[in-house]
Amino acid sequence: MLRELAENPPCIECGLCREACPIFTILRQEHISPRGLAILADQGVASVVFYQCTLCRSCRVICPVGHDPAGESIRADLVARGVETEANREMIANIRQYGNPFGPLKEGEIPKRLTCC
Ligand code: SF4
Ligand code: SF4
Repeated sequence: MLRELAENPPCIECGLCREACPIFTILRQEHISPRGLAILADQGVASVVFYQCTLCRSCRVICPVGHDPAGESIRADLVARGVETEANREMIANIRQYGNPFGPLKEGEIPKRLTCC
């Protein structure tokens, strides 16, 4: 995985990254595209939409300026500000109680729900 950059060039909003993003190619929503997330982050918006990002950094690979979405830092800030999804809270509670994100499981049981956002 690519590491976060010490200096992160700002997004110039060219949109070249959108088709490289696995989330945008499925949902086709600008506010969940890498460009949309970069604009929201630049404006200091604290929203659960940042949890839609897979942290894959395909956008950074194709970006002409090398903008890093820095999803890990943004999520850490969101958690510190109490901005989490109900699924995230449930997952963390399950890890603390059962040692896995899915909750109580029998030996060999496959979890029915595999989403975390
Ligand atoms: S890091 Fe996030 S915004 Fe960038 S391509 Fe991957 S899912 Fe999309
Ligand atoms: S993140 Fe990079 S590729 Fe995507 S819109 Fe911004 S400058 Fe363009």
